[in-house]
Amino acid sequence: MSKVTEIVRINKFSKEEIIYLLGVQGEEQNKLFQLASETKLKHVGNKVYLRGLIEMSNICAKNCLYCGIRKDNTKIERYLLTSAEVIEAAKFAFDNNYGSIVLQSGELNSETFISYVESLVLEIKKLSDGQLGITLSCGEQTEETYHRWFNAGAHRYLLRIESSNKALYEKIHPIDSLHSYETRINCLSSLQKTGYQVGTGVMIGLPFQTLEDLADDLLFMQKMDIDMCGMGPYLEHNDTPLFAYTGELIPLKERFYLSLKMVAILRLMMKDINIAATTALQTIDAMGREKALKIGANIFMPNITPKKYRENYKLYENKPCTDENPADCANCIEARICIAGCEIAKDEWGDSKHFTNKNNKTHP
Ligand code: SAH
Ligand code: SF4
Repeated sequence: MSKVTEIVRINKFSKEEIIYLLGVQGEEQNKLFQLASETKLKHVGNKVYLRGLIEMSNICAKNCLYCGIRKDNTKIERYLLTSAEVIEAAKFAFDNNYGSIVLQSGELNSETFISYVESLVLEIKKLSDGQLGITLSCGEQTEETYHRWFNAGAHRYLLRIESSNKALYEKIHPIDSLHSYETRINCLSSLQKTGYQVGTGVMIGLPFQTLEDLADDLLFMQKMDIDMCGMGPYLEHNDTPLFAYTGELIPLKERFYLSLKMVAILRLMMKDINIAATTALQTIDAMGREKALKIGANIFMPNITPKKYRENYKLYENKPCTDENPADCANCIEARICIAGCEIAKDEWGDSKHFTNKNNKTHP
């Protein structure tokens, strides 16, 4: 029996074993992918759930050292979608049977922003007669704000830990109160307490990052008992401070396979969570998202941001689909999911089975 098969059979993923799995190549890597694929089919099925992604605003108060829309990048034009534009995008998702949307933006903490998001959530719920699921990804907020948005109707939240290693976190963020590792952890706890299905994730192939860090990231997600995960390769952006370390990065192809292995291992460790096939994977490999769906991911996020804004929401270079309209993406999705051998879920929220399972356990 191969070592990969043995680790999966015993179903105990210690740090040492995860590091081993992150390093497998060739036949062993294929085995890892095959076992993760089987686990996915067994625990969450072959359906892919859609979340129409609305990149609502690129205005951000933060200066994360890796991100193309960081506050100090003066080379981009800042925008905030009008409420009519957001509603139109949400209607598009609803009419195309996507089931759910994600509202994502730069991070702002002003009352104007908070109440704007709140009113959008209320309106989207109204237009779809409560049928469209809403995920938010608007960064760190107070527990009170998380409550307000939850009460308005959002029920899932994405906030990546980026790296669970505090020292590495501090190397990729400015060291100040606005970029605190502790705050990020507290926000994840507040979100769980509020009642959201909570998603987190990391960037893979960051400068200074080791396989040990990535193993710890997976253990962190398990310990936090997260419901969803979105993770993908770190991709450099010219106009960011972290670009200076480009020469020290592992090659793109390696970053890609490391990301797929992270998805596969997480699927084996947390069998019933939702895992997204992220856009960053497609930046490296045209079939990147399909490959992730095959080996463990079950969520796909078609971009439904109006075309004219996409150029200015480049978190990293060469982001795909920036010259397309929501309708172009809609045509492409069906083909992509079909190629991956999966079935598209229509008009379904596709909530995290893990969330349901753990709540049934706590409240029998
Ligand atoms: N402001 C919100 C949401 C937008 S950023 C937040 O920070 O949570 C969404 C994600 O984009 C981040 O969590 C980060 O992991 C990812 N991202 C940003 N810059 C990136 C880069 N250069 N390469 C890969 N992913 C990046
Ligand atoms: Fe702002 Fe999010 Fe980018 Fe950080 S990662 S600069 S919070 S948009």
